[in-house]
Order: sequence, then structure tokens, then C-alpha cells
Amino acid sequence: MAEPADRSAELAGALARVRERIAAAAAGRKGPAPELIVVTKFHPASDIRLLAALGVRDVGESRDQEASAKAAELEGLGLRWHFIGQLQKNKAKSVVRYAHSVHSVDRASLVDALGKAMAAEQQASGRPDLACFIQVDLQDGGGEGRGGASPAGVAALADRIAGTPGLALAGVMAVAPLGADPDAAFSRLAGISRDLRLSHPAATAISAGMSQDLEQAVAHGATHLRVGSDVLGARPPVR
Ligand SMILES: *Cc1c(COP(=O)(O)O)cnc(C)c1O
Repeated sequence: MAEPADRSAELAGALARVRERIAAAAAGRKGPAPELIVVTKFHPASDIRLLAALGVRDVGESRDQEASAKAAELEGLGLRWHFIGQLQKNKAKSVVRYAHSVHSVDRASLVDALGKAMAAEQQASGRPDLACFIQVDLQDGGGEGRGGASPAGVAALADRIAGTPGLALAGVMAVAPLGADPDAAFSRLAGISRDLRLSHPAATAISAGMSQDLEQAVAHGATHLRVGSDVLGARPPVR
């Protein structure tokens, strides 16, 4: 393992390169700059501590057990935790203790579980509403199953989130299907976002774009980018 000073310099360099790519991609675009969420899954809490010292505030995690442990260890650093992985209903109660947002809301039963968990959590801690992104499956016919609601199911899910106290409908999220043209995928997501805003004008967020395709996502209006490996390097193998 690298010395902390070396690792910090490495992270600082990678972070600067990613920020430059985002700035270049967003040059000339109207509206606020896209927000960078650094995806820290499988990387140690020590890396997140270094990132926080480098000014990173938003981090993304995909597994509750790992995320809740890191959030507890790093409490007090002012980090905002974004849950981006497939979420089981029975983890809702745990996730709402630390998560600022969930980017992977993809079914009615999960909306209900998050609503119930938030009711209890807000009574106990007074925490603000949970920002919810509807994950859309852009892979026609399900395919590899990277998760997500069908595009046709977005409207009903949006109404359900908007009608649930404690949940705030932020917008949509998607992962470009493997092997497909990210440009076409994010263009489609932009259309789904436009449709959604006809009935939910405040749901303006578009969470799209990872290390490989952040430029295409920005070109299609992404407001939140989820970038992991180009900041932190290759992920250690899944345990
Ligand atoms: C892991 C992950 C990312 C980050 O991917 P990189 O290719 O490492 O940038 C983004 N979004 C989701 C949903 C992920 O699971």
C-alpha cells in the first residue's frame, strides 16, 4: 500500500484530471456545472479521508454494509453519502441513517420501504428528506439486468415518490448499457427526464456518466456524475 502522502498526491492528480474533463465537457453548456460524486465502493475509508481533505464532499457507495461502516467511521468530515447500488427493501432502515440520496429507486415496494424508514428516522433524528432518483433501465428487454425501472414505469414511480412524506423526487438515473453507444443511451435518458418534468417540474436531476462516458453524459444534460475508477484507480476485487 502506498504511503498516505503518495496516495494523496495520486488522488489529487486523478481528481484534477477528472475535474478538467468535466469542465471541458460542460464548457458552453447552460445552467449549473455538473456535480461530481466520487464512487468509493471497495476502496478503503482511508482513501475517502484523503479525498475529503482534497475538497471532495460527495461520495457514492453501492453496498449498505460497506457504506454504513464507512459513514460511521468518517462521521464529522461533512461528507454526503449517495447510495447508487441495487437496494433490498430490508436495507432501507439502515440506508436512511446515513444516505443523503438514493440513486437506485426502481420499484414501488422500495419506495414504500424507504418512506416507512424515513418516517421513523425523521422522528428520531429530524434529518432532511431523502433525495430519490428513479433508476431507469435503458437496456431493452432487461438484458444483463443492471437494474432499473422500465422507461414506461417512470411516471407511476415518480407519483409514488412525490406522494410519500420524507422522500424528495430528485430526477432520473441510468447506467449506459454495456456495449451500447452511451450517446444514444443518454439522449434517451434526457427525453425521459423531459417527460418527467412535465408533471414534476422540480425533478430536474439527471444522474448519468461514469469514468468511461462522462463526456457523453454531460453533453446530454447530466447534473450528477458518478465517477469511480478514474479517480481512485482499479477497484480491488469483490470480496
Ligand atoms: C461503480 C459504479 C460507478 C462508477 O463506475 P466507474 O466506471 O468506476 O467510474 C457509477 N455508477 C454506478 C451505479 C456504479 O455501480
